[in-house]
Amino acid sequence: MIQPTRIKPLNDMPLRERAAYVLYWMGLSQRVHFNPALEYAVEEANRLGLPALVCYGLAEGVPEANARHWAFLLEGMAEVGPELAKRGIAFVARRQTPVETALLYAADAALVVCDRNYQKPVRRFYADFAERAPCRVMQVEGEVVVPVETASPKHEVAARTLRPKLRRLLPEYLVPLDERPVAHRADHLRFESTLDLSDVPKLVAGLNADQSVRPVRRFKGGTARAEATLGHYLDARFNRYAQVRGRSEAGAASHMSPYLHYGQISPVAIALKVLAAATGGEDDKTAYLEELVVRRELAMNHIFYEPNYDSYEAVPAWARKTLDAHRGDERPYLYTPEQFEQGLTHDRYWNAAMMEMRETGYMHNHMRMYWGKKILEWSASPEEAFETALRLNNKFFIDGRDANSFTNVTWLFGLHDRPWGSRPVYGNVRSLGAATLKKFDADGYVREVERLAAVERS
Ligand SMILES: Cc1cc2nc3c(=O)[nH]c(=O)nc-3n(C[C@H](O)[C@H](O)[C@H](O)COP(=O)(O)OP(=O)(O)OC[C@H]3O[C@@H](n4cnc5c(N)ncnc54)[C@H](O)[C@@H]3O)c2cc1C
Repeated sequence: MIQPTRIKPLNDMPLRERAAYVLYWMGLSQRVHFNPALEYAVEEANRLGLPALVCYGLAEGVPEANARHWAFLLEGMAEVGPELAKRGIAFVARRQTPVETALLYAADAALVVCDRNYQKPVRRFYADFAERAPCRVMQVEGEVVVPVETASPKHEVAARTLRPKLRRLLPEYLVPLDERPVAHRADHLRFESTLDLSDVPKLVAGLNADQSVRPVRRFKGGTARAEATLGHYLDARFNRYAQVRGRSEAGAASHMSPYLHYGQISPVAIALKVLAAATGGEDDKTAYLEELVVRRELAMNHIFYEPNYDSYEAVPAWARKTLDAHRGDERPYLYTPEQFEQGLTHDRYWNAAMMEMRETGYMHNHMRMYWGKKILEWSASPEEAFETALRLNNKFFIDGRDANSFTNVTWLFGLHDRPWGSRPVYGNVRSLGAATLKKFDADGYVREVERLAAVERS
């Protein structure tokens, strides 16, 4: 079912009479399976006796999107048209801004259905579109288990305050979403796509985007790949999640974050598969849902209720105060943003983490924590450290530019955390030292990163 709290009108325009279709403007939820906005569009099309059309407009030139990001996104988008065709739904993809694309096809639509996105710039462009659209616009949330305002009406201070609120709502929200049969097929409708998805590498190479951050071999985009990766993970590696998820080299992570970031898989679908998994005990399931639901949705809560989520101003006042008080502390190691980017520090483990990120687009959560805390420790000021960490995060991670990116980078500086014992440079902000590296096979991690990077370069 689609919970009513996921559905919201964005304007008060009427439905267009004598329309050709119901339009679903695909934005964040880039998938055909388990997509509430798509199923809502199909329901409405069936009710109005119309076919459904899905449109996608490529936001070329969007800040920070580089060849690596586009390759992963477009590998997924290339699957969408054929999957929709199987269900009798039309698809058009344009090399034109998302809003222009949606306005173009809204002209013949009874109504437009769009996705929900909690990030500032996208919220603005949905509002702008809804004002200009010639018909009703309905927004359907599909990227969190519990819609952010339903889970909580305010900015939460930590996971412990959000967790009970989410837990209460899980029985209502962790439910399957059936695919609606399409009553009026769109096979006879023809639309001019200007985005040629038949050769994604060629398309990516011709985009106006930073081409120096290359697509990776380690991860390929798309719902089929996401589902296969999840299936394999649950069969083979999930049963150790609770025990060894903190060890970067243990292979206990699911690698779902890139697919979640591009909406190629639904978080509800992942959670239901995890809960139904024959492998893994209750402790593994609880630990996984803590990350996928509580931590991930805490990040969504942060970017929704904190207007400055992309700047140092989002660091809590107590943490800014203590970091400020330690501004003048001696820093035995000091690196420029460029030295960080090239992995030229004195610490071979840190350099390996940077190499994993730069060359393969991914890093395990615990290495991300170590990586980021050291940027704070080895930068000239906390503000410079924040900027360096966020820039590198968003440049190299396939899952960068996510709610999780902004929130977790801010976590490095004290967000969602409490004051700890005072240390040089960090003040009362939690530090991570060499002991972190003793908790797992750090040398094995370095060897594995070198192997992965060699594959990328070969
Ligand atoms: C400094 C720093 C930067 C980070 N930057 C990003 C980022 O750019 N994009 C991003 O998606 N995540 C980011 N994270 C969060 C986390 O590290 C990744 O989501 C996780 O490592 C992804 O790998 P996985 O899917 O294999 O994780 P798994 O361990 O398999 O977890 C399953 C899912 O749970 C969620 N999750 C796991 N850990 C966290 C966490 N700490 N906070 C919120 N959600 C979590 C993710 O959606 C993940 O896909 C960052 C963490 C830190 C400390």
